[in-house]
Amino acid sequence: MWIRGYIAANDGNISVRISDESLLITAAGVSKGFLEPEMILQITIDGKLVHPNSKYHPSSETKMHLEAYKQRNDIKAIVHAHPPYATSFASSGIPLDKPLLPESVMTLGKVMIADFAIPSTDEVPNSISDLIKRSDVVLLSNHGAMAVGEDLFSAYNKMEVLEHSAHITFNAMQLGKMNLIPEEKKKILIDLRKKFNFSGRIIE
Ligand SMILES: [Zn+2]
Repeated sequence: MWIRGYIAANDGNISVRISDESLLITAAGVSKGFLEPEMILQITIDGKLVHPNSKYHPSSETKMHLEAYKQRNDIKAIVHAHPPYATSFASSGIPLDKPLLPESVMTLGKVMIADFAIPSTDEVPNSISDLIKRSDVVLLSNHGAMAVGEDLFSAYNKMEVLEHSAHITFNAMQLGKMNLIPEEKKKILIDLRKKFNFSGRIIE
């Protein structure tokens, strides 16, 4: 995420659920481009540190991760980042809900924007609670995006598809014309998704 410019400095956070009781999450205040093993912390599903240490604390957005796991028994990993194009849409109040690319129709569906919430507060878990039940990818108003999946790369790949789609959508808007995929073709793409055993959640 850091190499691809989806996060700057110490932005973003990543977690993986390793059992019914606990998960691994990145530490607060560290660059994900320079992660060391001790910067990945094990916490309980109530947010308590399993091996307390004075040097690192769990991500400031731990509550957002815990809320998503609470709402979604089917997911095992979450990535949160501030990719520039996706975050531009999230900051302009423009959802990525147009059928412009087959990949986005098949893997993201309509990506909606959660209400603005002050980072690190309870407003953040509250803001994503409803949308994350219905969609694997959510834009965070004036903030960034989160993606969830059955494993870490499934979650990360959705973030990558999101940013790529946002970039192309932005370019198409600049060109002044968006040739949207017609409704009947969109239905075929949605059927294809079922054929490939897509297991995530999408707003169609
Ligand atoms: Zn953030």
